Formats: sequence, structure tokens, C-alpha cells
Amino acid sequence: MENCVLCADLKPNEGELVWRGDDCRVILVSDDDLPGFCRVIWNRHQADMTELSHGEREHLMGLVFLVEEAVRDVMQPSKVNLAALGNMVPHIHWHVIPRFKDDAFFPGSIWSVRTQETSPAILTERRKAALDLPDVIRGLISRLY
Ligand SMILES: [Zn+2]
Repeated sequence: MENCVLCADLKPNEGELVWRGDDCRVILVSDDDLPGFCRVIWNRHQADMTELSHGEREHLMGLVFLVEEAVRDVMQPSKVNLAALGNMVPHIHWHVIPRFKDDAFFPGSIWSVRTQETSPAILTERRKAALDLPDVIRGLISRLY
């Protein structure tokens, strides 16, 4: 679809393409505040989950949960946030966000106002950890698909 940033494939500076299949792709998002933030994107331009067949929903959510598992293992967050909003970009995509009690937006959503600054040393440590995520995600996918 025209003017859809997700149909246009990887946006400049969006992040790293971790894996791409026929129906979905996984991105490690570049976000200075939130290392380990991933996005699972449905390749076709469809807005809502119930536009997908049951098999497609299962496939997509299977990937979302796989990415959540990888994010938990690698980033050791206090909590993972899963979010599918799509008000600005009505093209199915799931955000998989490791959350920490000291992250910039805690305890609100990552789209809420900043509440604090994370210590630079801790952010550096988390950015280093996030470098392992692509391989861990691809490893899990290769075992499943
Ligand atoms: Zn689209």
C-alpha cells in the first residue's frame, strides 16, 4: 500500500532485520533508551489480527512469543511488554519490549512521558547484551521452522 512505512520495508534507521520469512519479519529496533526492543511485522498490508486466517494468526503469534522468549533470556528484563496498536501505522506489527524498573518510561508505556534517566553504564551493558539477540532469535526460529 502506498505511503505505508511498513510496506516500504525497512525504514531508514529503524533497526536491523533479524529474520525474514514469507509472511513475517523480525526487526531489532534501534532505540537508544530501549535496547532489545524488537518488532514482529506481518509482511502484507492488513490492519487487524482478525483479518488473518487462523493459521496465519497462529504463525504470527508463535513468532511473537518466540521473540518474547529470546528477549527474556537475553535481556533479563523485569517484564516484557507486548503491544499492537497500529493507530498511526495500520499495518499489523507487534512490539516486543523488554522493560526495566529503571527504564526511561517506567512504569508507563514506552509511548508515555519520560519519567527518569537510566544510568549510562547500565544502558551500555544492555546494549551489549542486545547484540546477542539476532543470533538467539534466528537459532530459535531455525529449530521451529
Ligand atoms: Zn502496509
